[in-house]
Amino acid sequence: MNPNDTLVQRDLAVLWHPCTQMKDHERLPPIPIRRGEGVWLEDFAGNRYLDAISSWWVNLFGHCNPTIGAAVKAQLDTLEHVILAGFTHEPVVRLSERLVAVTPEGLNHCFYADNGSSAVEVALKMSFHYWQNVGQRRKTRFVCLSNSYHGETLGALAVGDVALYKATYAPLLMDVITVPGPDCWQREPGESCADVARRRMADMERVLAEHAEEICAVIVEPLVQCAGNMRMYDPLYLTLLREACDRHGVHLIADEIAVGFGRTGTLFACEQAGIRPDFLCLSKGLTGGFLPLSVVLTTDPVYQAFYDDYEKLTAFLHSHSYTGNPLACAAALATLDIFEREPVLERNRALAAHMAERCAPLRDHPHVGEVRQTGMIVALEMVKTRDGRAPYPWQERRGLRVYRHALANGVLLRPLGNVIYFMPPYVIDEAQIDMMVKTAEQGIGRAVGEDV
Ligand SMILES: *Cc1c(COP(=O)(O)O)cnc(C)c1O
Repeated sequence: MNPNDTLVQRDLAVLWHPCTQMKDHERLPPIPIRRGEGVWLEDFAGNRYLDAISSWWVNLFGHCNPTIGAAVKAQLDTLEHVILAGFTHEPVVRLSERLVAVTPEGLNHCFYADNGSSAVEVALKMSFHYWQNVGQRRKTRFVCLSNSYHGETLGALAVGDVALYKATYAPLLMDVITVPGPDCWQREPGESCADVARRRMADMERVLAEHAEEICAVIVEPLVQCAGNMRMYDPLYLTLLREACDRHGVHLIADEIAVGFGRTGTLFACEQAGIRPDFLCLSKGLTGGFLPLSVVLTTDPVYQAFYDDYEKLTAFLHSHSYTGNPLACAAALATLDIFEREPVLERNRALAAHMAERCAPLRDHPHVGEVRQTGMIVALEMVKTRDGRAPYPWQERRGLRVYRHALANGVLLRPLGNVIYFMPPYVIDEAQIDMMVKTAEQGIGRAVGEDV
């Protein structure tokens, strides 16, 4: 038996995979990966897969990137881990200094965790606790946008709005206020994305006007709701939201876990709206996709509201065992080195333009309702009919057909329902983009039944 099949059998005997109906593996077994290099993943049979989704949006500079790898190896022989309460170490100090320097002005304090959901939990708890510390005890609720996603732990799930992940757990979740988001796919005929932003801001304004006294924070994913089918919106919404949060005395939490580190064209998506959130959550690309790490950056006023004599009991007594792990910090520092030494954003602009050009013909496809793009994210909305943008019923699992076609042709795509998207590592080249888009196009052809 070849090593691929052996590993699959051993896997299915003992593993339970994330976000997976395990029964699906009866027909479509997991693919054992032997090694990675650049945009490529390789299995034991020597098949290669172009990682068009950056391994769940974490990889920025390719698999086994030598710069990041070398930094982690050097750190391994120096200090693998140390408790971050009462102790500190150079990688975490340097990383914090550099994150404060590259993020929007005024985010001066870094609190670490080890995955995106935990960062969201930290931001929610910190915001709530801030208001407790300053005597605004009635502030206990959060506002989120429709179609939002902030992770899977119970607090993060509560401020999300993707029914597929959330509905089952509804009885366990805190009560939040969900406001219609500025998703531009939902525009009315004749409306621009900026028009949608303005219209949806009116809904937010009403909620804030009515409930500000009980609201701690509004949490948003700047510019792209990734897990919510790569829906995109105009930066104007963030500019208006920042102004409204200030006016109503409510925090703004920016969850840039998926869009941070150059994904949208700027280092951070908030830059495109010229805003500074009160809390900025980062993870995924933070370590270039090497190791789990997350961080919440916040402002002096928030930090100061917790800073007092111990007996006042105002401290933020939150921790995770692996908080600020030195190996992960070393990977993050090497990732920032690459951004500093190489013209990453400039190169991405050229790559994004090439993706746009290659995807443009799909705008005329009878079953593609929209080709949308923000920087290094392109999404194709597969529709049953372009008229009225009727979706295919989810039960038909059309996206899965695209997934299977792409795998058979050497590309790892992972459609979200009917939405096919590209979110490749920044080291992809033009020929690889051509191959990726062509494979997706053929996959869509098969999925909509053109030649099945
Ligand atoms: C992935 C993601 C999270 C959760 O991060 P995990 O590391 O998977 O827990 C939170 N918010 C956004 C926007 C994400 O894309």
